[in-house]
Amino acid sequence: MLSYKLFFLSLKTWYVFIIPLQKNGIMITLKTLIFNSFQVNMYLLYDETKECIIVDASCVSKQEKAKLTTFISDNQLKPVQLVITHPHIDHVAGMKYICDYYKIPLTIHKEAVSLLKGMPNYANLFGFNEYENVEPSNWVTDEETIQFGHAEIKIIYTPGHADGSICLYAKEEGFVISGDVLFYESIGRSDLPTGNSNTLITNIKNKLLVLPENTIIYPGHGPSTTIGNEKRNNPYL
Ligand SMILES: [Zn+2]
Ligand SMILES: [Zn+2]
Repeated sequence: MLSYKLFFLSLKTWYVFIIPLQKNGIMITLKTLIFNSFQVNMYLLYDETKECIIVDASCVSKQEKAKLTTFISDNQLKPVQLVITHPHIDHVAGMKYICDYYKIPLTIHKEAVSLLKGMPNYANLFGFNEYENVEPSNWVTDEETIQFGHAEIKIIYTPGHADGSICLYAKEEGFVISGDVLFYESIGRSDLPTGNSNTLITNIKNKLLVLPENTIIYPGHGPSTTIGNEKRNNPYL
């Protein structure tokens, strides 16, 4: 949370886009929905089987929830799990709604548990007054894969912004969802509880910048970028 430049806060309108990413015959479609006062990029990933994983749970208002469920029903998607990139309130605010509505498990990294337990306090502090915690039921570790339909996504464990921060890497399709770890020409904050700037930068350099340069980065806030662009133009790295 608060891990992006302030100008993102001035974006008042939702913008959505759908991008089919295809390589070697496998296709994942990625849909972005931008929700809540922190303008979080929530991602839906699905393939031709219509099985879908939801990445981050930022829907808060009635309209945002309706926008999410309408998109899913209009496209006949079958959500199979909710995956949280990291336990900050802007990314987990809609967890309870999504898990209850679709009866799907919550997937997180084990190191995210203690921050998640304290989330109700942060929720009140930041005005997410209807927040309710969810018990995680699926765990992921570094380099594990998550499957949906015919597609698979690899987990890359990248703490430093927050304990339990994961990135989701689609190797075949050439993209990575980076949460609040790496942004367009910026990086996540490391001054929040469990943050550590050395750990963050080391993880970005050793685990993300080693990916192919044309890998597209879809961050937790703001526009997408590429590994190559961040290698050349990110002033924090
Ligand atoms: Zn965030
Ligand atoms: Zn964050």
